[in-house]
Amino acid sequence: MKRVLITGGAGFLGSHLCERFLAEGYSVICMDNLVTGSLDNIEHLFGRKEFLFMNQDVTEFIHVPGHLDAILHFASPASPIDYLELPIQTLKVGSLGTHKALGLAKAKGARFLLASTSECYGDPEVHPQKEDYWGNVNPVGPRGVYDEAKRFAEAMTMAYHRFHGVETRIIRIFNTYGPRMRLNDGRALPAFMGQALEGRPITVFGDGSQTRSFCFVDDLVEGIWRLLNSSEVLPTNIGNPAEMTILDFAKKVLELTGSVSTLTFKDLPADDPKVRQPDISKARRVLGWEPTIDLDTGLKRTLEYFRTKVDERSARRGS
Ligand code: NAD
Ligand code: UDP
Repeated sequence: MKRVLITGGAGFLGSHLCERFLAEGYSVICMDNLVTGSLDNIEHLFGRKEFLFMNQDVTEFIHVPGHLDAILHFASPASPIDYLELPIQTLKVGSLGTHKALGLAKAKGARFLLASTSECYGDPEVHPQKEDYWGNVNPVGPRGVYDEAKRFAEAMTMAYHRFHGVETRIIRIFNTYGPRMRLNDGRALPAFMGQALEGRPITVFGDGSQTRSFCFVDDLVEGIWRLLNSSEVLPTNIGNPAEMTILDFAKKVLELTGSVSTLTFKDLPADDPKVRQPDISKARRVLGWEPTIDLDTGLKRTLEYFRTKVDERSARRGS
């Protein structure tokens, strides 16, 4: 039986990957220190004999008995408020954690896939972003801890490929949303949905003219699966090119939820990218991949999940 190690497996994306690899007939080891993830995301998998959870910090020495066919390195705080609260852990997991995971891949002869990010492009001066753009990152700004950790992780991954011959893959993930995002993780979608469902003002940062392009999690997981099984070593963008302003995104959430919430404008965080849109021509060409779930469909599926989370939160407050 094929065996995969998924670091960060108890997080939003990692938990969906655990499910996908189980469905593909893999035995799955989920490694997570639960710093931003939750056992709630994977507890439905605990009864499966092919599923093993290891509560471990990936920056410490990793010992995994037996063979491994693949390692998916997804461990890292990922939302701006998380990595601003955990700056050192974020730098450590991107650098030391990536080193440990690559070392394990080398020892086991496993294929390694790095979860990198569109943040490698920083506040981009090229739009939309293609993989050969080197980016515009402020290394000493507050977001630098995340962006530079991921850029270092990409460099380390390429070094293990070139110097040690490890089979590596790098995915640059653009804004992805869906069930199992944390209600309070501060990213635009959970913030807006929570606020809309509770009738609180929607916090738009800046004037809301900055753009993002949102991809539904199932599309992303399909892209990861295809990339892992491809022979593409250099970074590949996976995201949905449907770009919109954050103000329009907030209005979309209001419309979908039928909420009476008002909009309130707050200061734009430092170094917040003004535009972001993936050029996915490489993913189309090399992987035959493109997103299939439009924003309305994806948001409706996500709304059901957030309704449950908001109900749970109000029940806790009431008790
Ligand atoms: P998440 O916070 O839900 O998941 C990250 C997981 O990593 C959590 O379960 C956390 O507990 C775990 N973790 C963090 N540090 C760890 C450590 N030192 N040892 C072990 N586990 C650790 O975030 P997510 O949105 O699921 O992101 C997953 C990965 O995808 C991250 O690497 C992130 O940078 C990348 N990514 C995500 C997006 C997105 O839109 N969601 C975009 C670009 C890149
Ligand atoms: N944003 C916002 N209000 C919020 C949270 C985020 O206006 O309550 C904005 C944020 O400034 C950014 C965009 O929404 O311009 C996307 O933010 P998110 O944290 O989801 O992801 P990012 O792409 O910045 O990593």
